[in-house]
Amino acid sequence: MPILGAIADDVTGATDLAAMLVNNGARTVQLLGVPPPDAAPPEADAVVVSLKSRTAPVTRAVADSLAALDRLRAWGARAIHFKVCSTFDSTDEGNIGPVADALRAALRADIVPVCPAFPTNGRTVYQGHLFVGSALLNESGMENHPLTPMRDANLVRVLGRQTRARVGLVPFATVERGAEAVRAALASLANDGVAHAILDAVSDTQLLTLGEAIADSPLVVGGSGLALGLPAAWRRRGWLGEGGDAARLPRLAGRAAILAGSCSRATLAQVAQARGSCASFALDPLAHPHPATLAAAAIDWSERQPADATLLIYASSPPERVAAVQAALGRERAGEIVERAFAAIAEALIARGVRRLIVAGGETSGAVVSRLGLTRLVIGPTIDPGVPWTFAPERDLLLALKSGNFGSEDFFTKALAMLEEGA
Ligand code: ADP
Repeated sequence: MPILGAIADDVTGATDLAAMLVNNGARTVQLLGVPPPDAAPPEADAVVVSLKSRTAPVTRAVADSLAALDRLRAWGARAIHFKVCSTFDSTDEGNIGPVADALRAALRADIVPVCPAFPTNGRTVYQGHLFVGSALLNESGMENHPLTPMRDANLVRVLGRQTRARVGLVPFATVERGAEAVRAALASLANDGVAHAILDAVSDTQLLTLGEAIADSPLVVGGSGLALGLPAAWRRRGWLGEGGDAARLPRLAGRAAILAGSCSRATLAQVAQARGSCASFALDPLAHPHPATLAAAAIDWSERQPADATLLIYASSPPERVAAVQAALGRERAGEIVERAFAAIAEALIARGVRRLIVAGGETSGAVVSRLGLTRLVIGPTIDPGVPWTFAPERDLLLALKSGNFGSEDFFTKALAMLEEGA
């Protein structure tokens, strides 16, 4: 029975939370989308359902979140974490307020602690104001976000515009006084009819305090930072074991391959670095402007490589090359051809014995996961912040999905070396 059921408003945020939980000793499974009603409960301490609800229409976001809640409750989750972005990405219409209201009503929670703080990543909350590094949220660049421009750093006001319910604050000074003081403040706000309370936190120590203070709440809203303190609090309650092996994944013999469909600067450098130690092949969408033939070129090549070579297949190209491909094929069509080719290549490589696979690129990862029909990932050790190794039981595959800009320059080689070391 999971202790925690999390509902995340996007996929990378879900992975981020899941990795944080594992790093703090909770065995965690990430589900890709709402599981069907008859799905068996995953064997884990925490289950994170990833939705695409951050910028979906409000009614859709609420419906999906309630459907996820339904499964998590049926599986016996003691507490629900609605995972939002650490920059509180939302608009006056939602979706954080409406989803939090709907979950609160379904769970009959009296007061909902809300805290997006993640000090390690520079997200702190002071007097209800969210900072990104040393800048207020509305001066951090987030005010120009194309979908969720954040023009107010005061989260009490921001959330207040998204809900009819009352929003309050548990300030820094109270959090400094410890978990008991936070619990008392929450009870007193609840007594005054407040439904959602923004919690200040500027340090990991304060997140540990908050973990203890809110571990018994049926619903919490926040970023992955909250998962810093919750597992320790569950352990104190005897709900969670020592968790020494929370990140352990099965060891799989088989080939390793890297598929890079991201053209971001970080991935370009990672590809250049890995070419030194891998058998590598560049996809050429201009020579083969069709997914099947583009994939076939790479698959033919892979069959001629030594059995012990790590295969690196990449479409990653510098901006001028991408621009030329887009000019010839159209931006969307070029993207789709390359994504579909990678999905077909992943399928073919697995059929040919690949058991360790790294995919670089958010959209590219989405295309691969969907082609492989994956619905759940068991979360393993973290390679670089936000990117863990995972195990996909449905295909008996170790999989690392890296969003384009993540990871150090030696990400690919480091990731594969971790598995050799038996991580
Ligand atoms: P990131 O995480 O860096 O944004 P994505 O995989 O989300 O990476 O997006 C990269 C997009 O660029 C994908 O649609 C991919 O198919 C496309 N792409 C990759 N290589 C090329 C290329 N050489 N020419 C044109 N488009 C490409």
